[in-house]
Amino acid sequence: MTDHIDNLRRIVGESNALDRDADIHPFLEDWRGQLKGSTPLILFPINTDHVQRIVRYCYENNVKIVSQGGNTSLCGANVPNSSDHQIEIVINTSKMNKVIDIDPFNRSIIVESGCILQNIQNIAQEHDLLFPLSLSAEGSCQIGGNVSTNAGGVNVLKYGMVRDQVMGIEAVLPDGSIFSDLKSLRKNNTGYDLKQLFIGAEGTLGVITKVSLKLSSSPINEITSMVSVESVEDAITLLKESKTRFGDNVAAFEFISQSCLVAIDEFLEHISLPLGCDASWQIIFEVINHDEGSLSDFLEDQVKKGLICDALIAKNKKESNDIWLVRHSISEAEKSSGRGVHHDISLPIRKISEFLDQTIPAMEKIVGRSVVYTFGHLGDGNLHLTKKQPDNMNGVDFMNYSQEINAVVHENAEALGGSFSAEHGIGSKLKNDLVRFSDPIKIELMKKIKKSLDPKNIMNPDKLIDP
Ligand SMILES: Cc1cc2nc3c(=O)[nH]c(=O)nc-3n(C[C@H](O)[C@H](O)[C@H](O)COP(=O)(O)OP(=O)(O)OC[C@H]3O[C@@H](n4cnc5c(N)ncnc54)[C@H](O)[C@@H]3O)c2cc1C
Repeated sequence: MTDHIDNLRRIVGESNALDRDADIHPFLEDWRGQLKGSTPLILFPINTDHVQRIVRYCYENNVKIVSQGGNTSLCGANVPNSSDHQIEIVINTSKMNKVIDIDPFNRSIIVESGCILQNIQNIAQEHDLLFPLSLSAEGSCQIGGNVSTNAGGVNVLKYGMVRDQVMGIEAVLPDGSIFSDLKSLRKNNTGYDLKQLFIGAEGTLGVITKVSLKLSSSPINEITSMVSVESVEDAITLLKESKTRFGDNVAAFEFISQSCLVAIDEFLEHISLPLGCDASWQIIFEVINHDEGSLSDFLEDQVKKGLICDALIAKNKKESNDIWLVRHSISEAEKSSGRGVHHDISLPIRKISEFLDQTIPAMEKIVGRSVVYTFGHLGDGNLHLTKKQPDNMNGVDFMNYSQEINAVVHENAEALGGSFSAEHGIGSKLKNDLVRFSDPIKIELMKKIKKSLDPKNIMNPDKLIDP
């Protein structure tokens, strides 16, 4: 093993490798710190050539590889699991963060995979363009991680998921060869669209080194509002009404339960929430390319109809940021409030209410009463649901019930035509559910693809799918 570590370290140089326990520690767990692993070595390649030499070495010597971006995974997809039987080294792409080309005529950008999402958004903005992918972890997640998880976020309603933004990919394959399809073309009908294989593959088919992305027009105008409603049904009716009125100019429709608002209020100690936290549900509703007057008229109508209880429209960027701060603080607030069993499911929108009516009591039956955090991208039918540890139960006992809780949530979602995994992916956490809820032919095809691209199973083994 020492030989391998020395040889791999030499490829990137001493300053681009970590092998001391104290240094390695931050790279061993998922964002929530619930899934932990181990590795003898973290490598920080600075270019595709480094990645290629590392992967070739690993292929020839049967060393396993876990690719890492910003380590914000919520399903353990980024966690290495070295053991006495196998070494899993980490390739962390943070030092591959160059912008290779931005083309305002073509509305495209080519970047290295370690570029932080927020930096890509900022660069697009400097050219009066928009890179629409936006999520609470945007200050630390990297585009390689976003592509590998087919990330979603708050603007999917208008712009789609990452898959809709990708025009090209360069990736180092498990045998060290380079798949290069970096053309920035919106039309390119030339047989199998192989880049799609790497989108959502969670690092199991290769290491993404560069990505070509579509950019969109910056909206002429962007108006953010915060609205409170009494029930999920009212939120869903408001979504329908707003789509009828503003069509594709509804850019975000996020909903947040009162339990989340209370947790955020405690977490953001010195900041008052824009609409307080008395309402059962609040919605962040963003409309683009319309003036404030049209949104205000629309909201007034909905108040008159009794659909919404209260509403506030941001008058400027600061007020808009204050509203979004509420949304972007949920995961941190939740994390700081202690243990929970987390879910990321999607449903046909009209089934959301039925799902919650079935599932919240069903979770209560398993572990008793406790806080449930519900929030998510309502416009996409995507719910994040967390069952908190009951006050009268110890942590170990509670976690022993986690599989039972997951089962009921995932079964109910699937039974209503939904999915047990909406946007965070599979990782190590949901591997069994993938097999359980998928068409067997799909699983067979996935295995065939994995075996044919990665015959030695060196890329992120034990995640997503077993060959
Ligand atoms: C507060 C918070 C909010 C979040 N909100 C959302 C949300 O709204 N929508 C959403 O979809 N997700 C969300 N996530 C989940 C997470 O941010 C995304 O999955 C993100 O895309 C992961 O990017 P990363 O760079 O952190 O990847 P990592 O966590 O480092 O890795 C994730 C996966 O990608 C693989 N990978 C990383 N880089 C590469 C590469 N170069 N080549 C091949 N494989 C690679 C890893 O092996 C792993 O399988 C959130 C997470 C947090 C902590």
